[in-house]
Formats: sequence, C-alpha cells, structure tokens
Amino acid sequence: RVKHGGGGAILHFEPEMGQDVHEHRQLERELRGAEERRELRLHYQGRFEPDGTLVGFEALVRWQHPIRGLIPPDRFIPLAEDTRLILPIGAWVLREACEQAVRWNFSQRNLCMSVNVSPMQFEQPEFVVQVRETLHATGLDRRCLILELTESMVMRDLDRAQEHMSELRTLGVGIAIDDFGTGYSSLSVLHALHFDHLKIDRSFTRGLESSSANPARITQVMTAMITLAHNLNMSVTVEGVEEHAQLQLLRTLGCDHVQGYLLTRPVPAELAEEFIPVATPASS
Ligand code: C2E
Ligand code: MG
Ligand code: MG
Ligand code: MG
Repeated sequence: RVKHGGGGAILHFEPEMGQDVHEHRQLERELRGAEERRELRLHYQGRFEPDGTLVGFEALVRWQHPIRGLIPPDRFIPLAEDTRLILPIGAWVLREACEQAVRWNFSQRNLCMSVNVSPMQFEQPEFVVQVRETLHATGLDRRCLILELTESMVMRDLDRAQEHMSELRTLGVGIAIDDFGTGYSSLSVLHALHFDHLKIDRSFTRGLESSSANPARITQVMTAMITLAHNLNMSVTVEGVEEHAQLQLLRTLGCDHVQGYLLTRPVPAELAEEFIPVATPASS
C-alpha cells in the first residue's frame, strides 16, 4: 500500500481512497490546519489486568472531518508523516492526553496514559524537551505517562534512540515497544534498547482464537515472548483480545495486561470515564 511517486517521494495510498492522487492531495490540504480547527479527537482504550482491573488508557487519535466523518489514524497518520504535519498533531496528542490524565486524577489512582509516538516526532532533537515541558505545563506525574514506540522507528537510528530513551528514563516516564513481534528485528531491538513495557501485536492474539489452525503452536510462541519480556524486567500487554477464550488462556500464560475489543473499544473521554472506579483507591 506504499507507492513510490515520480519525484522520489513516498506517497501512501489507501484502497478506500480510490488510489486517487487528486483525492490524496485534497485530504493532505484538509489535514493542514485540522488541529487549529479543533477537528482532532482522542479516543481512549482501557488497559486492564487479566482479572479486569483497569491499569490505564491508550490515547488514539481520530480526525473528525466536517464532511467525511470520523477518519481513523491509519488513513491520515501516514499522510501527516509525509508532510511533517505529524509534528503539530503529535504535540497536540501528547498535550491533550496528559491534560486528560490530570483531569482523571491518574496520579492518585495509579493509572497510566499511553501515547503513541510517531517516528518523525521521536527523531526530533527537541523531543525529550517537549515531553518534559508537556509534563510541566500539565502537571502530570511523570510516572503516569507511557510513550509507545515501534521497532522500525528505533532501529532507524539506534544511537539517537538510545540517547532519547535514556533521557526519557531519567525524566521518569515509561517506554513501551508497540506491535512487538511484527518487524524484522524484534529480538535485536530488545537486545539494543531498554523498554519498560512490551506490547504483543494482535496478529499473535488472533492465533489464539478458537478457530485458529494451530493454537498449541501460537501458545508456545506467546509463552516464550512473555517469559522473555519478564526476564528482561518488562511488563507485557497483549493487544487485540476479542474473545473470552483468549482472555482465559492469557490469564494462565501470565501476561500482565490485556487490551482489546472484548474489554472495550477505544471510546471518547466521556465514555472512557465510566471504566474508572468511583472510589479512589488508597494510594500505595
Ligand atoms: P496501535 O498503537 O497498535 O493501537 C492499537 C490499534 O488496535 C487501535 O487502532 C485500536 O483501536 C485497535 N484495536 C484495539 N483492540 C483491538 C481488537 O480487539 N481488535 C482489533 N481488530 N483492533 C483492536 P486505531 O485506533 O485505528 O489506531 C491504529 C494505529 O494508528 C495505532 O496502532 C497507532 O500505530 C496509530 N495511532 C493511533 N493514534 C496515534 C497517535 O496519536 N499518534 C501516532 N503517531 N500514531 C497513532
Ligand atoms: Mg499503540
Ligand atoms: Mg499496537
Ligand atoms: Mg499499530
């Protein structure tokens, strides 16, 4: 789904867009200023212990287009990357997610907000400063923020990644490796870099379905990933849990956290709020 354009630029096409360059350019124009026009929205998907206890939320951006309706991130994040619009968008997402976490009193509730970071954002020399300033401006406890990075973005420039990650660690925020197991260098990335959390990609979870061709095999792979993560002092979140049978199995495999449609879809703040227990638990 990536086409190489004439000028050497890489353009992203989605089949839903009709592979129409004109349409693509149009969307690109409309994306410019979407943030100032307040068309961006964050939805929040809960992350839970296998027994159902809420541990936090992942913030997931959507574009509320005045005519086209709600556009999912896969349709405009690649576009935003191509045009550098991801920088203001990413800054907005971080700020908004942190503000929400403060409004929801995450610090006292021991909850964490996970924010996806795009490659271009992460590579900015001032990225760590931006995170620090956002924490400062919003007053969010550093321990309540988790940044989700992907393998391909950190492998692109290992030295830079190492540097930024050690600065982020000093800052005290958590760092997760997202979509684990889908790239070309999944094990190398764990060897080279220190993450706090590992998120197993939902393509593995799908293999645990009752209809799966070889559930025993995928269970072995999943078990090995969980053991590996624990041996490296990482907590494990399994993504894409859709069936009760998957959850049951994951409980026995010892994964720390689960996320998926079975528990909740990503929803607007006012609905996400309902997952937060009413009583503030005694702080530990
Ligand atoms: P991700 O970070 O791996 O987020 C998980 C995606 O899986 C979300 O899609 C979520 O809605 C979906 N999902 C969660 N549970 C299930 C499930 O049980 N079944 C299925 N089939 N899907 C599930 P979404 O919100 O469309 O986001 C897609 C991707 O877009 C994200 O993948 C992330 O890479 C990117 N993204 C989203 N928000 C942001 C953002 O604010 N900044 C950046 N840079 N990227 C973002
Ligand atoms: Mg993510
Ligand atoms: Mg993921
Ligand atoms: Mg993803």
